[in-house]
Amino acid sequence: MTNIANILFPMPISEGFDYQIPQGMELGIGDFVYVPFGKTTRIGVVWGLGNIPPKDIALKDIISKSSTPPLAPDVLKFVDWAAKYLVTYRGSILGHVLRPQDAQADGPFIKKVIRGPITRTRLTESQEKVVLILWQDDYMPLTRTELAQCAGVSVAIIATLIKKEILAEISVSVDAPFATPKALPSKTELNPAQLAAKNEIAAAAIEKKFTPFLLDGVTGSGKTEVYLEAIADILAKDTQAQILIMLPEIALTQTIISRISERFGIIPAEWHHDLGASQKRRVWRRINDGNAQIIIGARSSVFLPFKNLRLIIIDEEHDTSYKQEDGLRYHARDMAIVRAKFANAAIVMASATPSLETRNNALTQKYRHLVLANRFGSAVLPNIELVNLKDYPPPKDHWISPILREEIANTLHRNEQVLLFLNRRGFAPVVLCSRCGHKMTSPETDSWLVEHKYNNTLVCHLTGYTIPKPDNCPECHGFQTLVSIGPGVERIAEEAKELFPKKVIEVLSSDTANDPKKLRELIDKMENHEIDILIGTQITAKGHNFPFLTLVGVVDGDLGLKGGDPRASERTYQLLTQVAGRAGRAELRGKAIIQTYYPENEAFQALLNQDRDGFLQIETEMRAATGFPPFGRLANLQLMAKSDAAIEKACEIVSNALIAAEGVEVWGPAPPPIALVRGWRRRRYLVRADRNVDISAFMLAWRKKFKLPPEVRVIIDIDPYSFL
Ligand code: ADP
Repeated sequence: MTNIANILFPMPISEGFDYQIPQGMELGIGDFVYVPFGKTTRIGVVWGLGNIPPKDIALKDIISKSSTPPLAPDVLKFVDWAAKYLVTYRGSILGHVLRPQDAQADGPFIKKVIRGPITRTRLTESQEKVVLILWQDDYMPLTRTELAQCAGVSVAIIATLIKKEILAEISVSVDAPFATPKALPSKTELNPAQLAAKNEIAAAAIEKKFTPFLLDGVTGSGKTEVYLEAIADILAKDTQAQILIMLPEIALTQTIISRISERFGIIPAEWHHDLGASQKRRVWRRINDGNAQIIIGARSSVFLPFKNLRLIIIDEEHDTSYKQEDGLRYHARDMAIVRAKFANAAIVMASATPSLETRNNALTQKYRHLVLANRFGSAVLPNIELVNLKDYPPPKDHWISPILREEIANTLHRNEQVLLFLNRRGFAPVVLCSRCGHKMTSPETDSWLVEHKYNNTLVCHLTGYTIPKPDNCPECHGFQTLVSIGPGVERIAEEAKELFPKKVIEVLSSDTANDPKKLRELIDKMENHEIDILIGTQITAKGHNFPFLTLVGVVDGDLGLKGGDPRASERTYQLLTQVAGRAGRAELRGKAIIQTYYPENEAFQALLNQDRDGFLQIETEMRAATGFPPFGRLANLQLMAKSDAAIEKACEIVSNALIAAEGVEVWGPAPPPIALVRGWRRRRYLVRADRNVDISAFMLAWRKKFKLPPEVRVIIDIDPYSFL
């Protein structure tokens, strides 16, 4: 007879604790239970069940079982796997699954009124009004107050009816269920390529066959349409199916929510950091009990407790915001693939510029490659032009070249819109003293302060440190000797205003659109042609459809190429393709002008010749030659300490613990480009391993071999994407 249960808690532990199961309590794996833990009571998850002879038991009893439905077996399997892969505690991964933590407890409940056991007696006129509501075919349980309001009677009438047992009251969760998606008739007729793609995706999901797809098509080729129709097919066959649509930016959520509402007549559940605690609890519970069926989520949605996950969509799969860079370091796309595998679900990675890794998996037939070749309707891709800044330099302290300026003027003359793209917030990235050369930096951090003119501050984008811009140089005290070096979006806006003083010019960055409402307002203004020139950072690059935008000017194409990131060219190519794709989405042909000092760079040449696959081939060969992903594996081990002596000592200990392993190379310790953050000294080891090496196991073995003082922090990052 099963009499003990191993209970795992959402805390930094790898193994659960054993508890005795009281007589008569039925438990299954994945159940939520209340147990004594130290001096408190905690909720944990039943991770294992076993049996030991009663005389050997000296364990505490489980207190009770929560009414929350158990976690599905594939969720538990995923937790075990992710902890191993990411070299972290199993309990920490569980902590990501059980978010928010109050969602697993019983309650809070609310009383709702339903039909009672006694059907009909003589009723007063007011009582009759109430009964009429609850005896409708599609009645819903309501609270006393709601019901009284609907019937236009006093709450006392409801109380009387309950007493007479014509009505009854039940306790239900305060977290209202989500409406069931309806298969409204489709308004689109898919073209043959779309139809084939849709059928394959739907079939795999319905057959419960883990199948990864790359849905490869330029912006506007109808990828979203394909997966919406696939979802419709799946829901028609499996009314309990759950579908997760992951987006890289919450700014894109509104568009997809509208399309889902139109297609399925419901507001889907959302999951991202902007939700309040009670909204999160509702979504979590309604996913865990299988009620929420279509979920739009940011990267952390990969940890949600689905019951019947049939399909995951990773929109813009190449986007690096899927990689979480602090706390638990994980790549949501890669986690989602494993999640889909354990759930026997289909997974669609959609992109116009697939990551090299995903494309390689498609070429080697690990993923099914679904290609949508053309833009839908009459829209065509924009013409791309490169402007060599060496030949056509802008005037001193200006950044718009004469060629770009002329194109802007022509575009505005035709009453069309312009987007100037510069992936740099603020007014100027560097502020220094023209007299003594002092650079304004962030305290105890290797980072320059960025000037923001709209609120006259200097801001550290790394730590958030902010000061009002001083009048005097803090070093030599020279009055107004501080000068701004280089451009940010605000400065480009100033230049544009100087050139086109009569035009409406707006800046779109995370500073000017710092909440979803402001962002929506600016996007709406742009869509409605109330803006002539929009100056934007990367948040303008994604997903939006501006019908009158025909010119995109990339102010500094070279920006992303700097720094030691092995994916720099690939990212530049992806970002610029996306930005350029904003031009000419409707009937008007678009143009994109990229200003660069290195027009010969292969990323720019590929853009110019619209030769994505040729570019990816060159990049792939380079990665293959160096054994970088996807031809090898990478991991980072980072150390952080508050003093030079402590960091040097830590490096010595960690280096000494290094074990040689076949197919593994370790570089470091080396200071990363930003070696000091908030007083923390940083050092890094970069580990490269052959594909067949279990790099997680190697990292774990290494980690176990050294012991550092508690004031030294150790961070392990499997598949790192940031090299700063
Ligand atoms: P993507 O996701 O690849 O950017 P979308 O699915 O958003 O593309 O499609 C671009 C536009 O074309 C949308 O307005 C969409 O409604 C329309 N569209 C796509 N496929 C069809 C189709 N088969 N019939 C009619 N309109 C379509």
